[in-house]
Amino acid sequence: MTKKESFYVLNEFDIDPQRLKRERDRARKLKKSQWWLDQVNRGVCYYCEKKFAPGQLTLDHVVPLARGGKSQPGNVVPACKACNREKSLDTPVDRVLAIMAEIKKAGSSENE
Ligand SMILES: [Zn+2]
Repeated sequence: MTKKESFYVLNEFDIDPQRLKRERDRARKLKKSQWWLDQVNRGVCYYCEKKFAPGQLTLDHVVPLARGGKSQPGNVVPACKACNREKSLDTPVDRVLAIMAEIKKAGSSENE
């Protein structure tokens, strides 16, 4: 996979170590909740929708903590390790923008 373009800069508040620690603690607690067990027991990665053993699914923040995301249902999904790694610090909007950039590039090279 080629290096993706970034559409963002990290802001100071979002990467504040205190805030990140608090959200990581929250994520740890959430992992023990019945709600999370129900998510993982379904055994489906949120991104690629493939089936996995519950132990292979990781807790992923849809909007990463470093981008202002929170550890709460609605922003936390089960993801396989490959998708979690692939995603890195992207938000859903970043991925849509990256796809649009790819399409634009493909379109402009056709006209050359
Ligand atoms: Zn996946």
